[in-house]
Amino acid sequence: MSQDHSVSPSGLVIVYTGDGKGKTTAALGMLFRAAGYRMSGLMVQFMKGRMHSGERDAAQSFEGRITIVPMGEGFTWETKDAARDRLVAQQAFSYARKEALSGGYDIVVFDEINIALRYNYIDVSQVLGFLDERPKGQHVVLTGRNAPELLIERADLVTEMKMIKHPFDKGIMAQKGVDF
Ligand code: ATP
Ligand code: MG
Repeated sequence: MSQDHSVSPSGLVIVYTGDGKGKTTAALGMLFRAAGYRMSGLMVQFMKGRMHSGERDAAQSFEGRITIVPMGEGFTWETKDAARDRLVAQQAFSYARKEALSGGYDIVVFDEINIALRYNYIDVSQVLGFLDERPKGQHVVLTGRNAPELLIERADLVTEMKMIKHPFDKGIMAQKGVDF
């Protein structure tokens, strides 16, 4: 069967979810691949704070084609300050949305946003609204466990990473270059 090339080249909505490792890694791999075509990519990290990561240093050598911005502070699991967590999540979303709508990016990744959606710190309607508004042709990648059903319905590509084994179960801690 011949392929239909008349379909307009609108951007894809991509979701990486599930309990297995590789969601953020897959999104980074896509930014790396796109950079090869001089496409520009942005990753806003909803959970990660300012702690050091290999991906942020590596992004420096891509001449502005890969930008990674940590906007998270980790949630206050112990203090259970939901109001603060919501504020941090909303600030991250507001920044990510504004940057994505600026039109300067071919691909945007909202890394771990599904966690914020899960805790209702961000409403799925905010994300769906953004997806409708965004520049035509812009690919959007949304990562994190427990992607909401409405997001899965809206997406064009959904992959669930399924945990078969993880070294943490044997007490092996996160490894440089593999996990951070
Ligand atoms: P990565 O950033 O390595 O691609 P991820 O985005 O799929 O992982 P997250 O849920 O964001 O997974 O978890 C981030 C960290 O938690 C990583 O260091 C990862 O190795 C670790 N991790 C992921 N899945 C598991 C698991 N099933 N058990 C224990 N640790 C995990
Ligand atoms: Mg991740």
